[in-house]
Amino acid sequence: MRVEECFAVVFAYTLKDKFAALTGRPGIKCVCGRKGQGIWREQQRNGACTLKQISSYLVFLFFLATVSVQLSTLLFQQGVAWQLSGVHAEEDDFRRLSLSEQQLASLVAICRDSGMRPGELLAILRSDISKSARIPGKAVSDSGSQIRAETLGNSVDFLLKWKLRMLRYNSQGFERVSGYYSAILDDVACFPVDSDGIVYENSWMFERNYGGRRGHEGTDLMPPENLCGQYRIVSMTEGIVEKIGWLPLGGYRIGIRSPSGGYFYYAHLDSYSRSFRVGEYVSAGTVLGWMGDTGYGPEGTRGKFDVHLHFGIYIRTENAQELSVNPYWVLRFAQAICA
Ligand SMILES: [Zn+2]
Repeated sequence: MRVEECFAVVFAYTLKDKFAALTGRPGIKCVCGRKGQGIWREQQRNGACTLKQISSYLVFLFFLATVSVQLSTLLFQQGVAWQLSGVHAEEDDFRRLSLSEQQLASLVAICRDSGMRPGELLAILRSDISKSARIPGKAVSDSGSQIRAETLGNSVDFLLKWKLRMLRYNSQGFERVSGYYSAILDDVACFPVDSDGIVYENSWMFERNYGGRRGHEGTDLMPPENLCGQYRIVSMTEGIVEKIGWLPLGGYRIGIRSPSGGYFYYAHLDSYSRSFRVGEYVSAGTVLGWMGDTGYGPEGTRGKFDVHLHFGIYIRTENAQELSVNPYWVLRFAQAICA
């Protein structure tokens, strides 16, 4: 028996005497008769208590239990949907974008099977739906992480139902949070380096010192050999060239704004593949340039660090025009869907 059903039965039981008072009928106390006969014996306080009355009480109790179950389910679903209103992109927990290997595999598989956008899926899983009693095959469990998809199973229908519930009970919160995740993930179609042997680690907020002590707001992709101009950088998404040129920190960089609103930032390029214009459209997979070691100084500075691609993702929120989020799991997602 589910928790809400237990609650409903207890609720109905405690109301039976109040019902008797309201209807003017006596409270009843029924006990089983002699063993094996199944006969109900009635003890009366102020009058006769017939089988007909007992039937009406039972019908009423059943009605109350049903209403209570429906009400508690509704309240639970609304409560889960409203949890999204407490999610804010500026919080460290959100920006870290933590996933486990298993959760990543589930995300890729569910998106492939259901046609759901990854942004919608992560918004749904961000809520505490793990407490739902109707999780099929325990497809979603509480792992202590913010994203709780653990196995695929038959969870697609379950997640689609939750999407509808969230749109019904808290469409504003759902659109807002799924919009953040969509900006980060929905347009990803390619891994940004068109070569084998690239390695990278989750170095979100690792200490960096150039330009003052700060946290690392991106992921560094390292090539198998420390060679400039050998490894092609491609756009992970389609989008519009928003910024291009030299930055003291990023060297030769290019930034692409994807259709869902994410800003994809590629830095330390050795050179560009051609002359790009701000406002120009590029498709996913467009070669942007070659991996290099430019940056950490005035234009033309090279060799202050090993050749690598610094990759970052930035989103816009109500409170920030440029908010960095951890791209590590987005790169892993790209690698998985491109495999
Ligand atoms: Zn970096």
